[in-house]
Parts: sequence; C-alpha cells; structure tokens
Amino acid sequence: MRVVLLGPPGAGKGTQAQIIAGELGVPAISTGDIFRANVSGKTELGQQAKVYMDAGDLVPDEITVAMVKDRLAEPDAKSGFLLDGFPRTISQAEQLRASLADLGDRLDCVLELVVDEDELVRRLSGRRMLVDGQMVQRDDDKPETVRHRLKVYREQTAPLSGFYETEGMLARIDAIGSVEEVTARALAALDGCGRPSAG
Ligand code: AMP
Repeated sequence: MRVVLLGPPGAGKGTQAQIIAGELGVPAISTGDIFRANVSGKTELGQQAKVYMDAGDLVPDEITVAMVKDRLAEPDAKSGFLLDGFPRTISQAEQLRASLADLGDRLDCVLELVVDEDELVRRLSGRRMLVDGQMVQRDDDKPETVRHRLKVYREQTAPLSGFYETEGMLARIDAIGSVEEVTARALAALDGCGRPSAG
C-alpha cells in the first residue's frame, strides 16, 4: 500500500507511522527524520535545511521533493510506503502524484490525524526525544517556534485535506486517545482504503 499520513505537528504521526508501517510491511519514510539525520551528519542538504527547520518554516519544495524522489526510488519502497510529513504543500502533493503516475502508481490512502490546537500546544511543549542517551527538547519544539509551525501548518499544509478529499482518498481519524486506540482507528480506516485482509 502507498499511504500518506497527514496531520499537524504533535498529532502523533511519527509514533503511528512506525506502528502502521510495521503492520503494512512497508517502510515508514519521515522527511523530518531524513532532514534531522542530515543536520546531525552536517551534510550539504542538512546545512540547507537547518535554517528553515530552526525557524519552524518549511524547507523549499524543490529541495524536499528531490530528496523524497530519491528515497522512493530505493528498492524497499517499490511496492509500498508510508509517508510521514510529506507532502506538506499542494505543490509537493502534485509532484508526488506526477512522479507516482510516471511509474503507473498512485496513492491508496491519505490518513489525516485530527487533534485540536490546544492539545497540540500541550503535547509539543512537553515532547522530548532521546539524543545520545539524553532526553532533550527539539529546537523547533520551543514555544515560539511551535506557534509558528502551527501557523505554517494551517496556511500551507491544511489545504491538503481538501485536495485529497476531492481525490476520494482521504480518511480522517480522531487522534486523541491512547496510542493503541489511535492505531486501531487508523487500521480500520485503512481497511476502508482497501488494505488486504490478514491471512
Ligand atoms: P517534522 O519532524 O515532520 O515535524 O519536520 C520537522 C521540520 O522539517 C519541519 O518543520 C520542516 O522544517 C522540515 N520538513 C519536514 N518535512 C517537510 C516537507 N514535506 N516540506 C518542507 N519541510 C519539511
């Protein structure tokens, strides 16, 4: 299956992406993780992306789309993938659709995780990640950057919901609840998108 996980920062996309991709037997591809790995590795891509990431802005489409195309060309993504954090603009979505169409493929499902903004701010300000054995706050989870990232989401990414709804691919799920509850809702929604039944 070819799936996109859509949702604002703090909706739990990363956690759900790992679990759902495991269930589907496809790689979870997170553009944020790829950018962060490049920033830590001090690659040229990382240096280009860091300026935008630190400001809570989107990395320009041409950089992001080229990176995703390279990743999707790897053998493990040939028969399916779960994209986490991409696309984030209508232009990225159109370019994804075109590059899949070139291969005779299309997305099967776009899962949108729905969480209200007060809950997102609460989650993001308390979020920590493990780096070199220590729990640290992501630079872009600082309160002022969080507010900006949510604004960027509202303005540039939220319109994707309507875009994919028009394409008949969108499944919206309530992402408030335990990780297990949200996973169960996500898998049920994927069944509606034609997930092959177990066995
Ligand atoms: P995330 O881990 O998905 O929250 O992404 C962290 C940051 O990486 C974002 O705030 C952006 O600066 C950048 N980023 C990740 N995915 C994209 C994308 N599809 N388009 C542009 N920038 C992105």
